[in-house]
Amino acid sequence: MSETLFISDLHLDADRPQITEGFHALLAGRARQARALYILGDLFEYWIGDDDPQDRHAPTLEAIAALVEHGVPVFFLPGNRDFLLGERALARSRMQLLPDEVVVDVEGTPTLLMHGDLLCTDDVDYQAMRRQFRDPAWQRAFLALPWPEREAQVRALRARSREATYDKPQDITDVNPQAVVAALRKHGVTDLVHGHTHRPAIHELEVDGQPARRMVLGDWYREGSLLICSGPERVLERLPL
Ligand code: MN
Repeated sequence: MSETLFISDLHLDADRPQITEGFHALLAGRARQARALYILGDLFEYWIGDDDPQDRHAPTLEAIAALVEHGVPVFFLPGNRDFLLGERALARSRMQLLPDEVVVDVEGTPTLLMHGDLLCTDDVDYQAMRRQFRDPAWQRAFLALPWPEREAQVRALRARSREATYDKPQDITDVNPQAVVAALRKHGVTDLVHGHTHRPAIHELEVDGQPARRMVLGDWYREGSLLICSGPERVLERLPL
């Protein structure tokens, strides 16, 4: 029986090698039998260009490419940490890039895929920052900076965002329910898969009298999180790391 797999928010980082090992185990194990693997953003803790002088994520790019060579397509929808992943990294990993909002056929069900940050519309500061980061001119200027300068900017930004998140009430950093309904309506589908909020769950809802479901992927901090789609079935599984 075939299955399609979804993951997000691994936040791979040299400081947490056990997460990278867990991901590589998935790539070399269960994913080999999958119809496809979808990575819905924040695969990396941060990605600030394809030109890392230390090439720290080379083993991960190669491990993904090995799965693709095995015959399993791997799709990448960028998150707010790794939207700068570029052509070179895509070519090395052989991942296929997906746009921010896309409907794909998942085991016979048209399903909307997003990273999830676009649904957090209550956080207006974040949305303003996101628009800046997604501006091609800003991206060109940032990528032209020397690597150490890019790293310094990311460190400063992360310190600031930790403070900002700490001060915000929980519901501001979660998705806005109206934004979810609007996204499902806009794309004419009943199924949505996203990550970003680190609140793994399968939510049943109703949109225009139709049953709908929002599947939220978990992060990979203490354990891994995997959505397994097989026919009409959707199971959110925890992976020990
Ligand atoms: Mn995110």
